[in-house]
Amino acid sequence: MDCIFCKIINKEIPGKIVYEDDVCLAFLDLSQVTDGHTLIVPKSHFDNLLEADDEVIAHMLKVAKKLGNQLVEKLNAKGMNVLTNINETAGQTVKHFHIHLIPRYNEKEGIQITFEDRSSQVSLDEIYDKIMK
Ligand code: AMP
Ligand code: ZN
Repeated sequence: MDCIFCKIINKEIPGKIVYEDDVCLAFLDLSQVTDGHTLIVPKSHFDNLLEADDEVIAHMLKVAKKLGNQLVEKLNAKGMNVLTNINETAGQTVKHFHIHLIPRYNEKEGIQITFEDRSSQVSLDEIYDKIMK
């Protein structure tokens, strides 16, 4: 499979690897949205979180906590965004499941996730019924 993250995992192309174990690998994101921007990827290929193995996901979240604390401590980050994109609609560009750790130093950095309030335009009851029935 022609997957850039599988190539980093298999050491076919270089990556600035900051963590590795039997299940997953973490390396610096090339784009460095903020200093220390890191990706955690499973060693087995899954396209995204919704397709990944439950135990692998649980393990990766533990690694996210450990690495997140390391980034806060070593880089003096004041906060962090932990996120994963699923499919192109949500901004996924590499189809190998990955968790972004994006350390935050101030509120004016090059990452913007805004939550628009649409509560006056939609019905919570209708949406709830669609999900639950
Ligand atoms: P996403 O948009 O959630 O799929 O994120 C993919 C991320 O992978 C982007 O932030 C890219 O900067 C990053 N990326 C792509 N290729 C590489 C690479 N060879 N090494 C490190 N990061 C990469
Ligand atoms: Zn892959």
